[in-house]
Formats: sequence, structure tokens, C-alpha cells
Amino acid sequence: MPDLVPDLTDRLAEFLTPEQVLVGDAIHEDYSHDECITVDPVQPAIVVQPRSTTEVSRVAALANDAKIPLVGRGNGTGLSGGAIPHPEGILLSFELMNDIIEIDPENHVAVVQPGVSLNQLDEALAPHGLIYPIMPGEPSASLGGNVATNAGGMRAVKYGVTRHQVLGLELVLASGEVIRDGGKFVKSTTGYDLCQLVTGSEGTLALITEITLKVVPRLDHDATILAPFSSMDEITNAIPRIIGAGLEPLMLEYLDAGALRVTSEAAGLELGIPEEVNSAAVAYLLMKLENADAERLGVDTELTSKLLSELGALDVYVPPPAAGAALMAARERAFWVVKDLGVNDVVDVVVPRASIPDYLKTVATLASDTGSWVPGAGHAGDGNVHMSVFQDDPDKLHSVMASILSTGVDLGGAISAEHGIGLAKLDYMMKLEDPVKLALMRSIKAAFDPNGILNPGKVFTS
Ligand SMILES: Cc1cc2nc3c(=O)[nH]c(=O)nc-3n(C[C@H](O)[C@H](O)[C@H](O)COP(=O)(O)OP(=O)(O)OC[C@H]3O[C@@H](n4cnc5c(N)ncnc54)[C@H](O)[C@@H]3O)c2cc1C
Repeated sequence: MPDLVPDLTDRLAEFLTPEQVLVGDAIHEDYSHDECITVDPVQPAIVVQPRSTTEVSRVAALANDAKIPLVGRGNGTGLSGGAIPHPEGILLSFELMNDIIEIDPENHVAVVQPGVSLNQLDEALAPHGLIYPIMPGEPSASLGGNVATNAGGMRAVKYGVTRHQVLGLELVLASGEVIRDGGKFVKSTTGYDLCQLVTGSEGTLALITEITLKVVPRLDHDATILAPFSSMDEITNAIPRIIGAGLEPLMLEYLDAGALRVTSEAAGLELGIPEEVNSAAVAYLLMKLENADAERLGVDTELTSKLLSELGALDVYVPPPAAGAALMAARERAFWVVKDLGVNDVVDVVVPRASIPDYLKTVATLASDTGSWVPGAGHAGDGNVHMSVFQDDPDKLHSVMASILSTGVDLGGAISAEHGIGLAKLDYMMKLEDPVKLALMRSIKAAFDPNGILNPGKVFTS
């Protein structure tokens, strides 16, 4: 393959400038990895940075002719190794395709190129009084990466995940052909829904070159609520009750005592919780409510506080807005905190919401049986509590990971709620997923990408 590089770069130079084609030392090490902690970096043979759909299409056609692996990359914030390059392939970075094509307040949509970041879209929508409601923990992530991973995040309990906002996509197929599916409309029963099929396919079916997204009104008022609980049973049973009460929290996060301690310490936060409450608390619910009207927000906050007390909370704290925002920001940094502490792997299992008590109890038993530390923090309202597994022994780590993931599946859940399979969870996917479904996925992949050039070896093995 290295012999092919000069030939390929010559052909790429027919339609890309020299700055858009990187080889050898010109390839920055950032391109060799994402933020996954368990997959080793890989240097790609070539990095290309197209500026348009036409250029993406020509790169794909060229790779397809030469049967060369082609891996799409957004901003490399993925947690599953999905954007890890192929050593003999082209890494196609969408960083220069970062235009916001249109904000259409009448239809409540935004049309963007895939390299637009969540931050960038948020800034553009704010003056229109609109917001793109999906916010996975890393705002530098690209919308293309979000669609490819079907990203979730803390607001999913109210607004759903990325797929619920994707109205239309422009796609470049492996052949280089360009198709469009969906658009600025909210419903369609016009054959198979290719938009939804490609959403969450981690760059294995098509390259996403334009995205039409649903956006919603930006509500002016919000409140943060923190409630400590002294028993796991009370806290886990509270979660379905809160959702069932119809209060529609924007966020409903779970943090065990260890997770709250390390995240608030890392952020230098003094929460003002009395020592007797802190020492009695085994875990906390962290909630955010929002409303267009301050008085209605006040009523909802009171109702929620009352409900939390009835459900057994030791106390209910409603910090002032700045402190509430700081607490939420600390929660968003949980991944960096556990990474700094040397976490060995991260679990992203989802279970039915009402199975969270069984799931957390089994995880606690597995942790103590293997001498692992497994603090949990995450999207309790979605049945998606992220577990950080600290276990230095590689055999024990693999065993505890496999047991946690199979516990999730046995409870009717799934291996990955939002981070994706990529390379990180590939072994578990092959062992725990239904073989009939895997065979069907391979057939779908072959129909989209007969030469298997798009992100090969990710999600499932051939
Ligand atoms: C601190 C932190 C917190 C996070 N919190 C969350 C969270 O709460 N919820 C959550 O869901 N995720 C979370 N993530 C993971 C990450 O932000 C998401 O997976 C995000 O969607 C990745 O976007 P990206 O642009 O960085 O994609 P990349 O990492 O570059 O790529 C991700 C995948 O998408 C593919 N891809 C990228 N662009 C395209 C394209 N245009 N066409 C086709 N395929 C493409 C890649 O091949 C790869 O498979 C977190 C990450 C960090 C670092």
C-alpha cells in the first residue's frame, strides 16, 4: 500500500489543493485517535480535507475504484474508536465543511454542513431564540459525528437523541453517488427511511455531507435541583416516579457519592451540603427544569422538590443559577475527571428505566467480587448510567466489563446507548448481539458499500 500513496496523491491533486491532502509528517497525531481510552492510535496513509460534497464524492469514487479504506472524521471526540483511521487508508476529515447553510425560523430547522460544531450551531441559533436541543457532553463535537453516532447526552430525557432531530441528510455513497433523503418536513412514509438507517451507522454506510435538523424554542428560565438519597432502592425507584409525574425535566442525572465527590472536587465546587447529609448519602439525583415563564418554573420547582422529599430524598437543594450552572458543568466534565484518575474502561449500557435498580445492584456486586472501583454517573432518566471501571488487571477488567454488558443485555437493554460500538465494543457486540441481526446488518452494509471501503472493521466484523 505505501507504494500506492504517490499514485493516490497524484489523483487527489487533480481536484484538491496541496493543503487539502496530508501525508507522512504533515499528518498531525490528532488524526490518529479519538477520545476513546481503550483503542490504540493508528496513523492513516493519507488525510484529506474536502470543502464540498463534490470533492467528497470524488474522493469516495477514487477510494472505491482502488478498494482503499475510507474513514470519515468529525472532530475526533468519539468515545468508541469509531474515527480511528485505517493504516492503509484515507482519513476524510470534515473540518473544512463547517458552514451553517441556513437557519429557517419559519420551519424550525437548521441546515448545516457536517463539520459544524455544536458550539457553533448554538451561537448561530441564539439570536433567533432557537436551540438545537441535543447536547452530548463535548460541545466541540461535529454535527456529522453526532449524526453518525446518534449522540445522546443530558437533555435526551426531554428531547430524545440525535435521530429525533434529523429531518434530512445528503449522503455520499461509497460509489461516489450523491443522494438526499428527508428534508424540511417532519413526516414521510416514502419507502425505507434511509436517513434513520444512516443515523448511528458510525460512518460504515455512507458519508454525511449535509444535515437538516429540527430546532426548538430556547426557553429563558431554568432551575437546578440536587437531591441526596440514603438508599439505592429509594433513588432508583424515584426515577420512574419523577418521569411519571409529567414534570418533563430537561435533565435527570444520577451521580453516586463517589462520582459527585470527584467531579465537584475537580471543579473546586463547594456545594454547601451539611456533613451529616453528605455522609448519609449513597447517591444523588441532579435535575434541571426549564420553562418559558419564570412563575411556572417556580411552581414546577416546588412540585419537584415536594415529590423528591416524598420519594425519600434526605434534603432538596435548589442552588442559585450560577452555582447550578457550575454544578451541571462539573457533571459534564465527569469523563475528563475519571480519565485523569486513570479509568480503565467506560460502560455505556442502557437498560429499561425501571430495571435501573437491578442493573446497579448487579454492577455493585460485580465490582466488589472483582475488587474493582466502578463509580456511576449518567443519564438516569434514559436508563443510561455510565460506569467508570477502575481495574488494572487486564483479565479481571475484561471479565468485569463482559459481565456488566451482558447484565445490561439480559435486563432487556443494549451494549451502547450513545457512544457507539466503533472498535472499543466490537468484541462484546460480536458475542452479545443476535447473530441473525448481525447477518442482516452485513447484508445492508454490502448493499450500501459492496467493496467494504467505508470504515471497515467497525461496529461488526465481516
Ligand atoms: C467529554 C466527553 C463527553 C461526551 N459525552 C457524550 C454524551 O453525553 N453523549 C454522547 O452521545 N456522546 C458523548 N461523547 C462522545 C462524542 O462527543 C460523540 O460521540 C460525538 O457524536 C462525536 O462527534 P465527533 O465530531 O467528534 O465525531 P468523531 O469522533 O470524529 O467520529 C465519530 C464517528 O462518526 C463517524 N463520522 C464522523 N463524521 C462523519 C460524517 N460526516 N459522515 C459519516 N461518518 C462520520 C466517524 O467515522 C466515527 O465513526 C462525549 C465525548 C467526550 C470527549
